[in-house]
Amino acid sequence: MLSHSRLSRFMMLPEVQLTAWKQSSAFESTAQGKKTSGFEVCPKCATPSSVVYDHRFVKIRDAPVRGNGILLRLKKRRFFCKTCKKPFTEPVDGIRKSHRTTARFRRSVLWAAENFSDLKSVRRAYRCSSGFIYTVLFEQLDLRVKSKINYPWPTTIGIDEHFFTRRRGRAEFVTVFTDHKNKRLREVAFGKTKDELKYQVANVEGRENVKHVTLDMSDSYRSFVKEFFPNAQMIADKFHVLRLLTPAINKARVAITGDKRKSPLRWLLLKPRYKLKYFERDAIDRWLIDYPELKELYWAREALFTFYRTKGSERASRALIRLTDHLAHSKIKAIKTLRRTLVNWRNEILNYFKTGLTNARTEGFNNVAKLVQKRAYGYTSFENYRLRLLNACC
Ligand SMILES: [Zn+2]
Repeated sequence: MLSHSRLSRFMMLPEVQLTAWKQSSAFESTAQGKKTSGFEVCPKCATPSSVVYDHRFVKIRDAPVRGNGILLRLKKRRFFCKTCKKPFTEPVDGIRKSHRTTARFRRSVLWAAENFSDLKSVRRAYRCSSGFIYTVLFEQLDLRVKSKINYPWPTTIGIDEHFFTRRRGRAEFVTVFTDHKNKRLREVAFGKTKDELKYQVANVEGRENVKHVTLDMSDSYRSFVKEFFPNAQMIADKFHVLRLLTPAINKARVAITGDKRKSPLRWLLLKPRYKLKYFERDAIDRWLIDYPELKELYWAREALFTFYRTKGSERASRALIRLTDHLAHSKIKAIKTLRRTLVNWRNEILNYFKTGLTNARTEGFNNVAKLVQKRAYGYTSFENYRLRLLNACC
């Protein structure tokens, strides 16, 4: 036979003994219980006391069992602390101070909010307000994030931005920090400027640990990293560099062929030459004869591909000088801009050849972000979004 104490431990909280049980309505049971400890410790001065001053009853909602709501009616004793000369109420394990629900009830609400199809069913099953559900959701996600992601900065991180929301006609962005070593999201911050980022990630310890940071070529990120991670080497993301001429090439092609998405030239022009078949290369070359500007853009981009296939940082360093010298002859605006960027980001670009690091993982998390946003029909609160995103990626 199942002993009462075992049933009590299952139904009640670890320290609470079940004293009575009744089905109070069709949907709810009331369980009565009390603590039986010999003494309690004063929360203010930590002095143990065994002098019971008085007691009172509190009603606490507990996680439902088989759709049946559980209401705990607890007899809470108040002890007298001789040091403070004041009574204090005994704490109960599993119920946070001033909460009217058990921790288990709140965890259960989180589970329901994540698994039920809509808020209304959660409200009905737990008989609580939407406001309460949001509060609990926030609190529980925060607890989960704090217990899972609470380590100092790793040696290698990635920084990238993505669109968050549009407010008063202005687009707002968030910045994600990827932990490359543990393949997870480490932190999410609002905005993308140095001042916005600095204070939001200040609570994470070990800034000096960071040795490598992968990033796209944004001046604000560069100045942030320079100041915030003093020992870090920055690596400009290879794929961002390779994409620098894409808009100019597309624009020049559309001017010639019109905006036909299916045009085979679209992808032929964007692929590196070594990936094309002989006859495809031939077709491009013959077509480009009539369009000298597009031809120049095309070959500049091909030079970027070739540059990234260089092996070794010494060779890459020389190759980059040759490339920028070569581009200096061009009269085309997009190529001049490209050259300026390559010169401006020279060290960060060359660091790729020392480390082989890219920002691909960080961009992968941006795709997760899109899914999270879609599922929630857009977030209005950044804090809420941050917790959702960190939870989805760990
Ligand atoms: Zn005390």
